Amino acid sequence: MAKVTRTPLISGNWKMHHNHFEAIQTIQKLAYLLHKDDLEAVDVSVHPPFTDLRSVQTVLEADDIQIALGAQHCHFEEKGAFTGEVSPAFLAKLNVSYVIVGHSERREIFGESDELVNAKVKAILKWGMTPILCCGETLDEREAGATEEKVAGQVRAGLAGVTAEQVGALVIAYEPIWAIGTGRTASAEDAQAVCAFVRATVADVASADAAASVRIQYGGSVKPGNAVELMSQPDIDGALVGGASLVAEDFAGIVQFPSQRA
Ligand code: PEP
Repeated sequence: MAKVTRTPLISGNWKMHHNHFEAIQTIQKLAYLLHKDDLEAVDVSVHPPFTDLRSVQTVLEADDIQIALGAQHCHFEEKGAFTGEVSPAFLAKLNVSYVIVGHSERREIFGESDELVNAKVKAILKWGMTPILCCGETLDEREAGATEEKVAGQVRAGLAGVTAEQVGALVIAYEPIWAIGTGRTASAEDAQAVCAFVRATVADVASADAAASVRIQYGGSVKPGNAVELMSQPDIDGALVGGASLVAEDFAGIVQFPSQRA
């Protein structure tokens, strides 16, 4: 596998939290807490609810804050009779860079299938944005020794029909479902093992070059106190952060993990 440097990506998934006033306050506080050096060492994205996107975009662009705007999901069609849905074209128009796709909450609560996730991955790419494709096992699957089967299936299905070059430029988030919002975190050793397995799966479905450059995040109760250990693993290239990203101080502490490691 070719040796490449992968800039870590730390993404804050705000889920259904923060109205647009709270979003503006949070992003302004985050920008105050993070220094130029912090934002040069890693890439950072925030994923507010749809109703906050325009407000957060305005703050980021007006103050030239080097934090990318992200979305939490989208539809796969450009337009049409899809009441309540949001077009990837609309997100691209707001300068959204990253779109989370196949988050376990979308899969488990809203019934998103692998096929739907794959259609969304392709639509996000078509509109010039970067998918953050989520995968991960339930506690039952983990205890049954089915983690690899589940994760490989989601990665293969999610990336079907995507070129190796596109795969190399996107992001995969390994998020064990039992660790999301529970305060339970996979050990750094376990998270590393699954992320290495995801990378090997990418080599198989795309190419060795794609596997070397694809960024693989870990997600599941990442906090300032465990970020350094998790993100020091060779196959973990950042984090998808839920709860801790809602509090600017906590999210800043995670983003600043390279300086804490030094
Ligand atoms: C998530 O929302 O993807 C997530 C990992 O949440 P938390 O960090 O709260 O576990």
